Amino acid sequence: MVYFVGAGSGAPDLITVRGERLLREADIIIYAGSLVNPELLSNRKESCMVYNSAVMTLEEVITVMEEAEKEQKMTVRLHTGDPCLYGAIREQMDLLAEKGIPFTSCPGVSSFCGAASALDLEYTLPGISQSVIITRMAGRTPVPERESIRSFAAHQATMVLFLSTGLLKELTSELTAGGYSEDTPAAIVYKATWEDEKKVICTVGTLQETAEREGITKTALILVGEVIGSQTYERSKLYDPGFTTEYRQAKTDMSAGEQEA
Ligand code: SAH
Repeated sequence: MVYFVGAGSGAPDLITVRGERLLREADIIIYAGSLVNPELLSNRKESCMVYNSAVMTLEEVITVMEEAEKEQKMTVRLHTGDPCLYGAIREQMDLLAEKGIPFTSCPGVSSFCGAASALDLEYTLPGISQSVIITRMAGRTPVPERESIRSFAAHQATMVLFLSTGLLKELTSELTAGGYSEDTPAAIVYKATWEDEKKVICTVGTLQETAEREGITKTALILVGEVIGSQTYERSKLYDPGFTTEYRQAKTDMSAGEQEA
């Protein structure tokens, strides 16, 4: 059996209880060495074999899994954050399925959640934005034209950009071409939840100079949107005293008003 496990965004105690158990039980661990915290390997069985996928091809990874399966061993494929985002898991799963090797997934804390916690952000503030667009600038992996940053920017929703730290000048151009003003709040979060985490709030217009000043070139997320700076938002309906829900009767007939944070 092969388990695709989310390692979490960095801090080793952010892995799930299930993920930690699977790591303890694994005969083979193949981990994404460029971004997974190596401390997560410290509770492995003595006999456990460890491979760093950063120096392996897809075929080499699959061969290790195939050999393990022949010997009825249990493999953990440890991916950073949650495997479902930019994890290149589908191609592994398809090859495993072709070979009749069973697999399953265990989720993790994605770095976009880690970054929100670093800045105490709520991405979905009532009256500001109720959507989060997770995307990236095109790099060696192309992005379909219909998913251009400028077309997403037109929504003015909260935006989280993965894998784009090297393209901040272009990112600013795309965001402004799509309708964000240069002074829209933005943030750069480097190594969210790691010990050397760095977080800086800036604006859409100052992304590039901010990253340069802070020496941030990779392993960062770019967050964009009014939720970062907004002092004026609407209170939630769920906790409004004047609102009746399935679990609670309204205490007054007050309606939800605006609140200054
Ligand atoms: N599956 C991962 C993303 C893998 S893609 C997840 O759910 O987080 C790798 C990119 O994710 C990096 O280039 C960077 O943009 C982002 N990333 C991963 N870990 C990060 C962290 N701790 N802090 C900030 N960005 C991170």
